[in-house]
Amino acid sequence: METLRQQARQAQKILVGLGAEWKGGGPRIMEGYEALAALLDGKDYFIVTTNTDAVIFQTRLDAGRITAPCGNETWRQCSRACTKDIWEPGEIPDDICPHCGAPLTGNTVDAETYIEEGYLPQWQNYTRWLAGTLNRELLILELGEGFQRPTVIRWPFERTAACNQKVRFYRVNQSFAQLAEGLAERAVSVHENSVEWLIREMEADSGTQR
Ligand SMILES: [Zn+2]
Repeated sequence: METLRQQARQAQKILVGLGAEWKGGGPRIMEGYEALAALLDGKDYFIVTTNTDAVIFQTRLDAGRITAPCGNETWRQCSRACTKDIWEPGEIPDDICPHCGAPLTGNTVDAETYIEEGYLPQWQNYTRWLAGTLNRELLILELGEGFQRPTVIRWPFERTAACNQKVRFYRVNQSFAQLAEGLAERAVSVHENSVEWLIREMEADSGTQR
């Protein structure tokens, strides 16, 4: 069996989904992101994350290859959505909408009126990239995604895997690693926390390479 790093080297494209196990900055989260960055180094990849904590943007992963459709807590929007403006952290020091005086809130799906303009440009880049994976040797890593928002990563990744004979699909999750029917030969299910799994895979592999 090839190591994860070898499979990543051989893959033409790598699709990564990051779910709840990558949320909230657990003790090893930055190590996990570093392992991911090392795995993806020099590769044609795209990452979809359902997390909104924006920690991923503090890593050396390429922001141009990341989409966060559930939003970004550090970006601010009007809680009444009176404007589609989205502000960077600290841009509005009093955290009050300069147009209508309502409090600002995080630009995420948890806002009552989520302003989707924040994520849409990168989402469109992602769908374009995804269309180019058809019939390519595609490695899919679905890491730590449960069933809270299955329409973003879990179900579409399964469909992408089902439509591509050259796919290798990893579903890594401490609690929800079960696979869909029909993917069996091309899919690997790992019942383990995906952050710790990735760190260990990369550590194990660095011992045998070079
Ligand atoms: Zn407003």
